[in-house]
Amino acid sequence: MYDEKTYKLVNQLAAEMKDDCVKFIQKMIQTPSVSGTEENMANVVIAELEKLGYDEVYRDKYGNVIGIIKGDEPGPTIMYNSHMDHVDPGDPNNWQGYDPYGGQIDVCDVACLDDNTKTEKAECIHGRAASDVKSGHGFQIYAGAILLKLREMGYKIKGNFMYTGVVHEESGQNAGTRNMIKHTFPEKGWDFDAMVSSEATSLKLYLGHRGRIEYLLTTYGRTAHGSCPQNGINAIYKALPVIQKIRDDVIPNLPKDPEGELEQASISLNIIECSPGALSIVPDKCMMSFDRRTMMGETVESAMEILQKVIDECAAEDPEFKATVEMKPDVDHCYTGEVMSGYKFTEGWKIKKDHPFTQACARALEDVGQPVQYGYWSFATDCAVTAGYYKKPTIGYSGMQELYAHTPYDKCRIDAIEKAMAGNAAIYLEASQLDKEDFKKLEF
Ligand SMILES: [Zn+2]
Repeated sequence: MYDEKTYKLVNQLAAEMKDDCVKFIQKMIQTPSVSGTEENMANVVIAELEKLGYDEVYRDKYGNVIGIIKGDEPGPTIMYNSHMDHVDPGDPNNWQGYDPYGGQIDVCDVACLDDNTKTEKAECIHGRAASDVKSGHGFQIYAGAILLKLREMGYKIKGNFMYTGVVHEESGQNAGTRNMIKHTFPEKGWDFDAMVSSEATSLKLYLGHRGRIEYLLTTYGRTAHGSCPQNGINAIYKALPVIQKIRDDVIPNLPKDPEGELEQASISLNIIECSPGALSIVPDKCMMSFDRRTMMGETVESAMEILQKVIDECAAEDPEFKATVEMKPDVDHCYTGEVMSGYKFTEGWKIKKDHPFTQACARALEDVGQPVQYGYWSFATDCAVTAGYYKKPTIGYSGMQELYAHTPYDKCRIDAIEKAMAGNAAIYLEASQLDKEDFKKLEF
């Protein structure tokens, strides 16, 4: 166990290393890395990990970067996860004079950490991905630097600190993290016991989010001349009972979070197209794209079954009715040349407040004098893979603020970066003291 003095030292080291961390974040923001083009960003990260003296630095075949600090004693491996890609900055004219790739620092109006409806003046770093999630790489990697310093000073470190900088988070199927865990880890003989995500949480502990699936549901008919519609079967009319059943019967009965913490699962019909799509032809195909938000525990198969049941009901009522439903495929090209194919699917998940890992994270924040508050994300993250798929204890903890993600007001408070460096190091120190059986699989 570490004493009060150790955690005081953690705060002190964070204060001392803050300037180097901020410089590193500036350099990352100045290195554009839209999904699929993360190579230069990865090079910047690798150089920093090597400079700081991480014990192992590795780039896998997908272009993910892994940096490991090995403890002196056996213990758990805690994965820290930040994605290297970001979304397009959009129109530069909306950036209020800031260069999206400038990494400029100034004192400006920014949302308060404890109440984002209020603003105050604070020093901030600006630019695309400052809040999603380049500042996250900074404070996670520098949390490792604090541990390296402690080790150098003679403190015993247990287990392994594992930083992972991943590709293709923003692309929709968490392919970077998914393939790293599925393929790279076994090849390297690595595993992990828990994960900490740097996605924006305003220094709160975030405990879950809903999942997401994109579906394509197609109803079929038969073409005829538009002047004699009675001779054909209009695929759009065949879609009507499907839409009605989904709206009236399915949506109200979608799964709810029994604890009422996550929003109810949902289905939204967002695009309708038909083919052949000419004014003089009765359409023989109507394609409907649905955005489905899932509850934790729902799988691709179980979510698909709900829509298949609607199709079966329509077919039972109308012998002419024909329809298919499928998940939309997703293909991500890595800067290394590797291609990752899968589906537009992200798992939902939740960890309980009384899980030993959550409690260790809460103790850690108390150790370094930070308030312990909880929340849930409205958007999806790479936690979907570690928590939703692998059911391993996972938590969000970050100095970045959700309201700036993907906006032209993209920024991160520097006071929060320093706090997140100390908080992440403390989370490692507390979590590394846990026993194997404390890393209980998540249940939902
Ligand atoms: Zn993100």
